[in-house]
Amino acid sequence: MICPNYPTPSFFVFTDQVPALLYYSHLPAMFISLLIGTLVFFKSEKSLLGRILLAMSITFFLWSFINLIAWTSNSTDIIAFIWPFFGTIYALLYIFSLYFAKVFVSGRDISFNMKFVLGVLFLPIVLLAPTRYNVQDFNLALCGVTNERSYYLNYFYGFGFFVAIWVLFILISGYRKSEGEMKKQILLFGFGIEAFLLSFFVAGYLASVWFENMYSIEFYGLLGMTFFMGVLTYLIVKFKAFNVKLLGVQALVFSLIILIGSQFAFIKNSINIVLNGITLTLIMIFGYFLVRSVKKEIEQKEQLATVNAELSQRKDELQMISDRLAQSNDKLRTLDNAKTEFISIASHQLRTPPTAIKGYASLIAEESFGPINEKQKEALKKISQANDQQINFVEDLLNVSRIESGRMEYSFKEWDIQDLCQNVVDNLYFKAKENKLYLDYKKSETEIPKVAIDGAKVLEVISNMVDNALKYTQRGGVTMRVSLCEKNTEGCIANEHVRIVVSDTGIGIPDTELPYLFAKFSRGKDISRLNTGGTGLGLYVGKIMIEANGGKIWAESDGKDKGSRFIIELPVTQTEENLRKVG
Ligand code: ADP
Repeated sequence: MICPNYPTPSFFVFTDQVPALLYYSHLPAMFISLLIGTLVFFKSEKSLLGRILLAMSITFFLWSFINLIAWTSNSTDIIAFIWPFFGTIYALLYIFSLYFAKVFVSGRDISFNMKFVLGVLFLPIVLLAPTRYNVQDFNLALCGVTNERSYYLNYFYGFGFFVAIWVLFILISGYRKSEGEMKKQILLFGFGIEAFLLSFFVAGYLASVWFENMYSIEFYGLLGMTFFMGVLTYLIVKFKAFNVKLLGVQALVFSLIILIGSQFAFIKNSINIVLNGITLTLIMIFGYFLVRSVKKEIEQKEQLATVNAELSQRKDELQMISDRLAQSNDKLRTLDNAKTEFISIASHQLRTPPTAIKGYASLIAEESFGPINEKQKEALKKISQANDQQINFVEDLLNVSRIESGRMEYSFKEWDIQDLCQNVVDNLYFKAKENKLYLDYKKSETEIPKVAIDGAKVLEVISNMVDNALKYTQRGGVTMRVSLCEKNTEGCIANEHVRIVVSDTGIGIPDTELPYLFAKFSRGKDISRLNTGGTGLGLYVGKIMIEANGGKIWAESDGKDKGSRFIIELPVTQTEENLRKVG
């Protein structure tokens, strides 16, 4: 049967009787939503969100499609056939919207309970769709079903409204829980989806229930979908939501093409048709270049992102290694502390017996316990020498342990450096003589001011230097010189530094050994042939002590068997900085 007000039977009627706005409201919205739904679906690699959006856009497409038929067709059979589907498709569209909103906000699928509630509320709409409770009669004059104010209609519109409010709650709670960028995304998204859900509800409800003669108000409800899709596109471009990058620009260009193309449906004026055609062509050309340039930019950014990802991976690896290193360092430090503590305790214990031996040996040598013969004297001398070595060794160990545990203390006073050196020479004079070596002391010709140093420590260092020189010299001897720096040379400022040089005619030091001389436990290769005792700690401790006095110590040698020179430079006055450093 054909509705009387329509001229010819057909599916769609393009006549003046059908308002032009109908096509403009339906077609672009339908195709834009389907286009964006499909693009997101494929480009987001069929993610859950992509699937729901596709379902939403297909449902919207179907609803708009049957709505378009209801408006344009003049076949009562067709209209009567499609009419019962309105409620079901409408409700489905709201269900998918809710589902979409929930997943968008929380990033997770909805709970079973939520699905159950939706299913229960939805059930009456589906079950009653083909019954009389939905469609009652057909009005030929209006060419449509008249069932206004029926419970069914109110129910499914009510369902739509209920869902729209539910979505609002989801958005508000999601907004509260999120931070930063996500807050902005939810705000924008919420604005878009609510604009669609509410406008679709209000326009549909008003058109169906209240204003029987104002059906066309329904058209405006569909524009809400285009708006929502616009918001989604913006989200994709701005925030890279859905993890699809290029899509936003493509969707924008295609939507523009659809919007402008759909104007042909109702433009009547031929000039306007031409102008619209030109606009469409221009949009297509610019659109093509825009998409191409964005594609290029994205490719470049992706390359950069890959490089960055690799870099950050390297960084992570490095971080891991350095963490492990720090852990090992901590362990080492603990071990080192334990070792230092052990040495300190052990050395104190070791010091007592040799000190007693030294005392008694000298008493025996002085014949305090009765006369002794030459052989016994010789043996006592060897005991004393070995014992002295032992005492020196323990003293060195104690110094190392004090240095490493930060317990070495310095006290600076004014000392006459020449007297100090004289002291050293006096102490070692007999040792030199015994070894048939000379020990010369060349005092400065100019007057040397008193120097602010820790005299005991400096004396210890100089003694070790002269002692070494005697130890590592077989022929010739040792000369010690003290002088005030007269000219500015590197580190030695005129009248501000004194210089002590101990030179010998001994075994010398090869170039290869010079850099390691002052390291802990460092002993030269050649010394083994001299059969001398030693620890390799004297110079190490000496260097630290001299530096703590604000001075410098180093060694020079012209090579193997060409003698050595050990040089110390000390400041006449201590700087504030050095005093602070030493504590
Ligand atoms: P020790 O003398 O107990 O071995 P030192 O730290 O005092 O320890 O000296 C370290 C090393 O420097 C010595 O083992 C030796 O090889 C070298 N050395 C020190 N003084 C001289 C010197 N005057 N001539 C040659 N070598 C020396």
